Amino acid sequence: MKIVILSRNPKLYSTERLIQAAEANGHEVHVLDVLRCYMNITSAKPSIHYKGEDLQDFDAVVPRIGASVTFYGTAVLRQFEMMGVYPLNESVAISRSRDKLRALQLLSRKGVGLPVTGFANKPDDIDDLITMVGGPPLVVKLLQGTQGIGVVLAETRKAAESVIESFLGLKASVLVQEFIQEARGSDIRCFVIGEKVVAAMMRQAKEGEFRSNLHRGGSAKLIKITPVERETAVRAARTMGLNMCGVDILRSNHGPVVMEVNSSPGLKGIEEASGKDIAGMIIKFIERNGKEGKTRTRGKG
Ligand code: ADP
Repeated sequence: MKIVILSRNPKLYSTERLIQAAEANGHEVHVLDVLRCYMNITSAKPSIHYKGEDLQDFDAVVPRIGASVTFYGTAVLRQFEMMGVYPLNESVAISRSRDKLRALQLLSRKGVGLPVTGFANKPDDIDDLITMVGGPPLVVKLLQGTQGIGVVLAETRKAAESVIESFLGLKASVLVQEFIQEARGSDIRCFVIGEKVVAAMMRQAKEGEFRSNLHRGGSAKLIKITPVERETAVRAARTMGLNMCGVDILRSNHGPVVMEVNSSPGLKGIEEASGKDIAGMIIKFIERNGKEGKTRTRGKG
């Protein structure tokens, strides 16, 4: 197959592994910087150009679109979809999962376990917002944050009030969430490919930290998940419409709760923790499913 990987940096571990895996399986791979793609959207025959070249005859596209380029990145991906190129994850599904509020609303509609969460743009009554989500301790999250930046633990009502007030004062939207203390600084990353959890790891925050992000110094180890956790991860992926994703789960005393569904999960931590060839599994999935025009939406919706 002729596969395009949309990635801003071919030297990233995940991108390198996908290139290796695709080539090892006999495919032709092209890595394109999504911001350098430009498109003709006026003609009856949608096209994408890259550094002067008209991109034609690709069979599949693997989007690795960073959070900061979601808007343009999904537009380029949509153009590929309109051309009939099979996307590993569809643009619509990526947009759904990138919008934290929309994602939580969709998951709650499907009855997927979630931490009790409130969100507000300009609450007249912060006190009531805090009470609504069960009172302190609470986690306050900036809507635009990634890699644990902008995630604050407020242990008292006073602390919660002032954090919420200052974020809102900076015109940032916030999400206020029940603190899952019983998770004790660990979360579970379930790696889903095509309705199956193919690997799972537990990430543990470093001493004195509640955020388990590997970027924040957390460590990862292989873990066996329960059938309910497996089911939760698969339902979360299905709800977002993502074929491949990382579902982050906390073990709460009211069952597994989904914190986030990541449409471009990193491969390094999970391959190292599990010892599995996840990149190879992704390529195999594309081989099985990547038929021309086989997208649910073709960029619609
Ligand atoms: P980001 O998307 O920036 O990584 P997350 O929402 O995933 O932000 O939060 C970062 C980390 O903080 C999580 O991996 C988890 O360890 C911890 N965390 C987030 N929300 C909660 C919560 N409600 N209760 C307990 N820990 C949490």
